[in-house]
Amino acid sequence: MKIGWLYPLLFGSCYIFKAHGSLLVIATNETYADRIASFGPRLSENGKVGYLVEPFTDPTGCSRVNAPCSDWVALVRRGGCSFITKVRNMQASGAIAVAVGDPEHQSGWITMYAPGDTSDITIPSVFLARNEYRALLYLSKIVDSPMTILLQLDDFITWPLLDILMVIFVSPSIMMIFIYISWQLRLKSRKKLEVAPMEFVVRLGLKQFSFEKLRENEAEECAICLEDYINGEQLRVLPCKHDFHTYCVDAWLTTQKKFCPICKRDITCNPC
Ligand SMILES: [Zn+2]
Ligand SMILES: [Zn+2]
Repeated sequence: MKIGWLYPLLFGSCYIFKAHGSLLVIATNETYADRIASFGPRLSENGKVGYLVEPFTDPTGCSRVNAPCSDWVALVRRGGCSFITKVRNMQASGAIAVAVGDPEHQSGWITMYAPGDTSDITIPSVFLARNEYRALLYLSKIVDSPMTILLQLDDFITWPLLDILMVIFVSPSIMMIFIYISWQLRLKSRKKLEVAPMEFVVRLGLKQFSFEKLRENEAEECAICLEDYINGEQLRVLPCKHDFHTYCVDAWLTTQKKFCPICKRDITCNPC
C-alpha cells in the first residue's frame, strides 16, 4: 500500500515522501546518492544489478530505443518529457531500471512523482542530482565495456509503513495540541471577562463595623465566610450596599465572579 501521494495533498508543494538510495559502481566501489521514485516497484534489500548505459539515440529517454545489451539500466537526463514517460519508454526498451539525472539544476535530489495510474511500471527508477549524474555519465563513457552498477536502498525502513504511522499518529497529535492550546486560551480570556480587575475592586467603599451604629436589616455576618462581624472590623461595601469582610469579597470578586454574592449585581456595571 503506497500512500506517499497523500503528502502533496496534505502539505501542498512541500513533498516530503523520501526514500534514499544509492548507486554503487562495482568496479570502483564508489557510491552515488540517489532518490527512489514514488512510483514503480520498490527496490528489494538485495538491490538491482545491471549495466549502466546512456541511450545514445535519445539521451533524454523521451522515446523508445534499441536495447544496448541485456540487463541494462538506462541513464537518462532530466527534461524533454515527464519522468513517468521516460520510465515507460525505457521499460518498453528492455531496461531493468532507470536512473534519471539532472544535467543543469543544482536543486539537489527530488522525488520523481507521477499523477494518475502508474501500476504498469514494473521497473524501479531513481533520481540523481547534478554532480552525481555528471560523474556517472563521465564514468560510463570512459570505460570500454558497459559499467556494472548496483542500485540499492539505503533506508530499509518500509517507508509506506512510516507514512501510515505519520498520518495516524503525528497529524492527529498536532491537531490535538493545537485544539488544547486554543481551548486553554479561550478559557483564560473568558475567565478574565468573568472577574473584576483588582484596581477596580480596591476603589470600592470601605466601612468599619460597629454594633452601636447597626441599623435594622443590616447584616451582622459575612455572607461569604459566614463568620459574625467583630466590632471595628473593616468591611467592603459594594455598589449594591451589601457588605462583606474586605479580604473575603476582594478574593471573591477578583478570582471567582464580579457579581455581588448576595444580589448577583455586576459590580463593574454602574448603574445596572
Ligand atoms: Zn467573610
Ligand atoms: Zn448585592
